Amino acid sequence: MNEHSAPTANAMTVDVEDYFQVSAFESYVSRENWKNFAGRVEHNTDRILEMFSAHQVQATFFTLGWVAEHYPDLVKRIVSAGHDLASHGWDHRRVTNLTRQEFATDLKMSKEKLEDVSGTEVNGYRAPSYSFTRENEWTHDVLLEQGYAYSSSIAPIKHDLYGIPDAPRFSHRYAEQRILELPITTVRLLNKNYPCGGGGWFRLYPYGVSKWAINRVNHKDQEPAIFYFHPWEIDPDQPKIDNLDTRTRFRHYQNLEKMEGKVVKLLKDFDWQTIPQVYADQLKSAA
Ligand SMILES: [Zn+2]
Repeated sequence: MNEHSAPTANAMTVDVEDYFQVSAFESYVSRENWKNFAGRVEHNTDRILEMFSAHQVQATFFTLGWVAEHYPDLVKRIVSAGHDLASHGWDHRRVTNLTRQEFATDLKMSKEKLEDVSGTEVNGYRAPSYSFTRENEWTHDVLLEQGYAYSSSIAPIKHDLYGIPDAPRFSHRYAEQRILELPITTVRLLNKNYPCGGGGWFRLYPYGVSKWAINRVNHKDQEPAIFYFHPWEIDPDQPKIDNLDTRTRFRHYQNLEKMEGKVVKLLKDFDWQTIPQVYADQLKSAA
């Protein structure tokens, strides 16, 4: 019995990209080389669709324009199952490596492709590797110019590759209050934010730690959690990339074989909806 009224639902999200497209492999696998890999994203995302269907979960799928171009039928299946389709950029370029104009083009191309293929409107965006930083604070203005309504692109943590440690932990607004930013969920302990919304940490920690952290966000902070994972994380049989440095290898491959079971526990233990469902009121008032 909870003495506080917790939010009724949390937001489930999937970043739809293939195993060889992750930022950590950028210096090992060039974009020109992507076409030479046998894709696994379609099969893995179909498995996720089955898992969500079995547990009556609806989610937001942040999808690469590249994936929509190569697997249009997959994008149609995501939408026809009632999920929210959103953009993860065209080909997973981190915003920290883009000029404002290049970012605008990336947003436009990915939105148009996803909308063309799916026949639905796309107005959500997640930056590859949470690459909104203090150095590119024009990002939300460009999202507004390109017809987006929400973003989930900030990690309010300290990390070697990304993050704005002092950003607000929960939903807030930019660009004349018209873009809703939904940072990935953190739990706050002793004045420090720790990630608890997915990624390598979810695979590293025992499941009970994540469950405790999400409950704490729901009950102590009285906020929904936003969780994310990737199709390649439930695929322990994916081909291994050669010659990775030790840290990259550990981060990508650790506990892949346990991931699907852990995600199923999450699906059972909490109620999950799409971002537009969980944040319906805030999105309406921003429009
Ligand atoms: Zn990504």
